[in-house]
Amino acid sequence: MSKYISSRYSSLKTYTPGEQPKDKKYIKLNTNENPYPPSSGVINAVNESQLSSLNLYPDPTCSLLKNVLAEKYGINQENIFCSNGSDEALGFAISCFGEKGVIFPDITYGFYKVFCDYNNYPYDTIPLNEDFTINPEDYCNTGKCIVIANPNAPTGLCLGIERIEQIVKSNPDSVVIIDEAYIDFGGDSALKFVSKYENLLVTRTFSKSYSLAGGRVGFAIGNASLIQDLMTIKYSTNPYNIDRLNLIAATQSIVDQQYYDGCVKKIVSTRERIKKELVRLGFSVLDTQTNFVFAKTDKVYGKDLYLKLKDRGILIRYFPGERTGEFIRITVGTDKDMDKFIGELKRILEETK
Ligand code: PMP
Repeated sequence: MSKYISSRYSSLKTYTPGEQPKDKKYIKLNTNENPYPPSSGVINAVNESQLSSLNLYPDPTCSLLKNVLAEKYGINQENIFCSNGSDEALGFAISCFGEKGVIFPDITYGFYKVFCDYNNYPYDTIPLNEDFTINPEDYCNTGKCIVIANPNAPTGLCLGIERIEQIVKSNPDSVVIIDEAYIDFGGDSALKFVSKYENLLVTRTFSKSYSLAGGRVGFAIGNASLIQDLMTIKYSTNPYNIDRLNLIAATQSIVDQQYYDGCVKKIVSTRERIKKELVRLGFSVLDTQTNFVFAKTDKVYGKDLYLKLKDRGILIRYFPGERTGEFIRITVGTDKDMDKFIGELKRILEETK
C-alpha cells in the first residue's frame, strides 16, 4: 500500500475472487461458471464489423439490451438498470440504499460486507438456521436495507416467494435487494412483486445461466425511482459501464433464449445426478437450486478435499469457518467433467479410509 492512499480505503478488507491458476489445465468447478459456451448467435453477433467500431463509445443508456429485457419480463425500460456484472448493480444498490445499515445472512455471498465497508456503512449479519435455511422473521420490520441472495450462495437453498414478499412488505421504509444470480436454475423469482412494492430491487446476471461470466453483464429491476438512484451512481462514476461488444452479446443472449434454456436443463439434470452420487458416497448434500452443490463428508475436511482434488487437476471451493469448514462447493460442469470429479473423489475417499 502506498502512503498516498486515502485513509478511508487503507484498511479495507477486499473481496477475494475464486482462484484462476495458470500453472496447468484444471477442470474448473470453483467459480460457478457455465460449462457451455455462448450461443452461436452471440458468437456471430460479436463480429468484425462490431470490433471495428470499438473506436466509438458504447451506448450509455444500454437501450437495445433494455429493450429485449423489457419485452422478456413485461416491464418498462425505466424499470431496468444494466450493469457491469451484477456485482456492480449490487454495489451501487448498497451505496444508494444502505446508509442506515444493511442486513444479510452470516453465510452468504462474501461481497455484501465488502460493499458495506467500502461505503463505511454499518451492517449486521443474521445467523442462518441450523439447517442453513433463512428464518424470514429475522428480516421483518428491521427498517434497514436487506440483501438476500435467493437462491443463497454457497448453500444453494431457496427461500419461498411468499416469505420474500413478507420481508419486503414489512420493511416499507427501506430497500430489500434480492440477488437472483442463480434463479434460472431453480426457485421462484421475486420479479412479480416489483410492480407492487416500491422498495424491492431484484438483481440478475448474464454470468451464470447465459454463459457470459467473461462479458461482465448484469441488471437490476425495480421501481423507476430506485433505478434513477442507481443511475445517479453510474453517471457519477462510469457512464459507459458496459462495453460495446458485451452489450451486443447480452442482447443476443436474450434473443437466443431457447439455446440457454437447453443448457440450463442439462446443468440441472447433471446436478441431480451428482447429488445422488455424492449421497451414495456418504456425503450430506444440501437441496441446491443452483448450478453448484454444497456438500460435506465427515471423512475429509473441506480444505483437505480441495487440496487433494487440486493436486489431481480439479478445482472446487471450500469455506473456512465453524459451520462451513467441513463443506465443499462444487460447480456443476459437463457430464464428462463431473464423472472425472466423482472418479477422483472416490479414489480420495478410498485412500483416506
Ligand atoms: N451474487 C452471487 C450470489 C454470486 O455468487 C455472484 C457471482 N460470484 C454474483 C452475485 C456476481 O456475479 P456477476 O458480477 O458475475 O454478475
